[in-house]
Amino acid sequence: MAVCTNCGKEFDRIGTNCPFCHAKLGVSSVTSKEQRDSFHGRYDDKSKGLMILSMICPIYGFIDYYKNKDEYPLRTSSSITGAFIGTIIYLLIITIIIYLILFK
Ligand SMILES: [Zn+2]
Repeated sequence: MAVCTNCGKEFDRIGTNCPFCHAKLGVSSVTSKEQRDSFHGRYDDKSKGLMILSMICPIYGFIDYYKNKDEYPLRTSSSITGAFIGTIIYLLIITIIIYLILFK
């Protein structure tokens, strides 16, 4: 499997040109997902900031996880963890508020 450095599409390498954009494939052709990710400036790592963001806004964490879990497994694991913690915190706060309203 080769990845075109011009358009980023994956294909089985047969000729010397990309079948999608017809760019000439030279020695700079990247051949692995990791290389392609670094080529496109993608970076996958655990993120504390994203975890905190997902805690504040769990919906964002869940959406980020389901949309990007295949492409960014580490980053989205932070999102889903933060989303779960955030959901539990919100449920606790709502429970306390309901309790205070009902039993004041
Ligand atoms: Zn191409």
